[in-house]
Amino acid sequence: MKLPYQIRNIDEVYGVYAIEDLPLGSKVMKLYGKYVKEPSKYTIQIGERHLDSAYGSRVNHSCSANTMLMIAINTLDGEEGLVPWYSRINGTLTSMVIGNPYPVLVATTSISIEDEITFNYNHSESILASPFKCSCCGKWIRGRDYKREQQKSMSIYEHRGYE
Ligand SMILES: [Zn+2]
Repeated sequence: MKLPYQIRNIDEVYGVYAIEDLPLGSKVMKLYGKYVKEPSKYTIQIGERHLDSAYGSRVNHSCSANTMLMIAINTLDGEEGLVPWYSRINGTLTSMVIGNPYPVLVATTSISIEDEITFNYNHSESILASPFKCSCCGKWIRGRDYKREQQKSMSIYEHRGYE
């Protein structure tokens, strides 16, 4: 099967680029690899685990990304469906309903040939192993739970202040 994307190294920066037009809703990149416990600069968080995927690790962040991380499943009708990664599917009931789930980046807009393929790291990652300053907006990208974790540690600190 021909992949609809290509990994390129432009000015020492890896990125993934579309080599054909990809319509809205299409499965752009199936993510394969090894699941590890600890996140790294190259892993993608899927639920409680972190996927070390050779191609997936080359997809750069964008705050206005053109794909989103989803989980593809087989429904009872034998059709393939997509659910958000955060739907917390688990347990035996679910496994009777669905089968062969796999993570996939799905186009959230129509992607043109030569466009860079991106997704928003703040959607998938709880806390980034390697925070960085976003090249599009200049904001720090630290993961979706960063603020909450920071507030939690600050409230512990404040509480101690009153002891
Ligand atoms: Zn940004």
